[in-house]
Amino acid sequence: MKTLVLILGDQLSRDLASLDGFDRERDVVLMVEVADETTYVRHHKQKIAFILSAMRHFAAELGAEGLAVDYVRLDDPGNTGSFTGELARAVARHRPDRIVVTEPGEWRVRRMMDDWPLRLDVPVDIRDDDRFFCSRAEFNAWAGGRKSYRMEFFYREMRRRTGLLMHGDEPVGGRWNFDSENRKRLPASITPPPRGAIAPDAVTREVIAMVAARFADHFGDLDEFGWAVTRRDALAALARFVTESLPFFGDYQDAMARREPFVFHALLSPYLNVGLLGAREVCVAAEQAFRAGDVPLNAAEGFIRQILGWREYVRGIYWLEMPGYAQTNALSAQRPLPWFYWSGETAMNCLAIAIADTRRHAYAHHIQRLMVTGNFALLAGIRPAEIEEWYLVVYADAYDWVELPNTHGMVMFADGGLLASKPYAASGAYIDRMSDYCGSCVYDPRIKTGAGACPFNLLYWNFLIENRSVLGRNPRLAMPYRTLDRMPSQRTRTIVEEARAFLDDLGRDKPGPQSAQP
Ligand code: FAD
Repeated sequence: MKTLVLILGDQLSRDLASLDGFDRERDVVLMVEVADETTYVRHHKQKIAFILSAMRHFAAELGAEGLAVDYVRLDDPGNTGSFTGELARAVARHRPDRIVVTEPGEWRVRRMMDDWPLRLDVPVDIRDDDRFFCSRAEFNAWAGGRKSYRMEFFYREMRRRTGLLMHGDEPVGGRWNFDSENRKRLPASITPPPRGAIAPDAVTREVIAMVAARFADHFGDLDEFGWAVTRRDALAALARFVTESLPFFGDYQDAMARREPFVFHALLSPYLNVGLLGAREVCVAAEQAFRAGDVPLNAAEGFIRQILGWREYVRGIYWLEMPGYAQTNALSAQRPLPWFYWSGETAMNCLAIAIADTRRHAYAHHIQRLMVTGNFALLAGIRPAEIEEWYLVVYADAYDWVELPNTHGMVMFADGGLLASKPYAASGAYIDRMSDYCGSCVYDPRIKTGAGACPFNLLYWNFLIENRSVLGRNPRLAMPYRTLDRMPSQRTRTIVEEARAFLDDLGRDKPGPQSAQP
């Protein structure tokens, strides 16, 4: 039986389920660069260059191994621009008895696949993506019957199941979670290691030139492209992270610094998400470094929790709740995305820095995403679909299955608390505590209202006031609501007036949100 194995751009793993049983004598791998996928949202230029270059390298590696690879480039004549169109052409070329594919990371593509047997008149075998610790069926079994889900309980279950950082039935160190130790500000005396950017080779340079020409009007710079595009270089990046940054990852996990866009973060998410690295090998590397005494427990646990806990948890929720998940809007947020998310032109220093980092590197670390760009979108009541699209566009690691729950659930609380027990709302004091951004800002986080007041202060209280009917009974928000209730009414009136004036001003004189993302 001749098989055509379709490998998607985020399935660049040699041990991919769809390659199981591949017959080198008969079977063919199909990889396609299609316009639909590069433009259904206007991805950051680095994201497109990263994926296409990694695809081309992966195809070359399979070819060198002796597998027959049919590779369609974006600019090949006859390229139809869609998965379905390219499959139809490949079926005509190869006349396979069946198509094999690993399930995609996106609901939109999964639905597309359902049409293929009929459209192509060939049976299609869609295999589970087993590159995760927890299968979709296992997650559904865990979630079954619960009204809301909590990452912490799921994570403990995963620790038990995998044995990672376990001592028999007990967590190593006697605690499951060392988060409370992971909230230090970055002192001036500590300098994180340099990024270790990888110089683009000839293949990547060709892709970068093509992206620069073809996607010139997409958001983002290409100048500092430094991503690994092969498994070998991704493994080297993992090794460097474990030696140089992981020992400090825990302590400074939440820290933000003006001149340090990466702090001690891993920069491994693009590699994990396209399959150049496996989640298991990354977690095992961190555990081994801890067991060898090279990395403290709060760092190893904090890092492993992000992958074994959060990454698996958001994926589980995505597949469990889609497609309805993306439609909810528990806080009825309706404001359009301000233009400065694209231009970076804002006097709020924290936002300007996070957006500039994003434009330069197609990267911002978790706390910038959650507590700066995310926090602002939450407090300002941005329409969930608009901020979700922004996150999907601007980061090199962004795929629907992981971006959507993080933005819709964790940041925007648009799911009404399904994913997280409370919104991650914070005033300017949090940003000031965890960063060096505020010192050089025109606004002052210590000023609550009036001239110079940090907009995050106004918006924070205004957010609690405006959303009282939904959030007022949330036990985790009891303290801020008590503080609010003790405020003199004149003060709350001033907050609401100034917050509204600020919000009304946000959209002035700016191009429409979707009209021309730079
Ligand atoms: P580190 O901080 O070094 O963490 C290590 C690894 O843990 C990451 O590589 C990542 O694989 C995993 N991880 C950490 N936090 C999360 C999380 N909340 N969810 C899933 N995995 C996590 N991550 C993506 O991979 N793709 C996205 O599209 C994405 N969108 C996000 C949108 C918002 C609004 C927020 C708040 C977070 C988002 N994240 C996303 C999660 C997280 O911010 C990134 O995984 C992380 O910043 C990647 O950088 P790093 O490799 O240096 O991570």
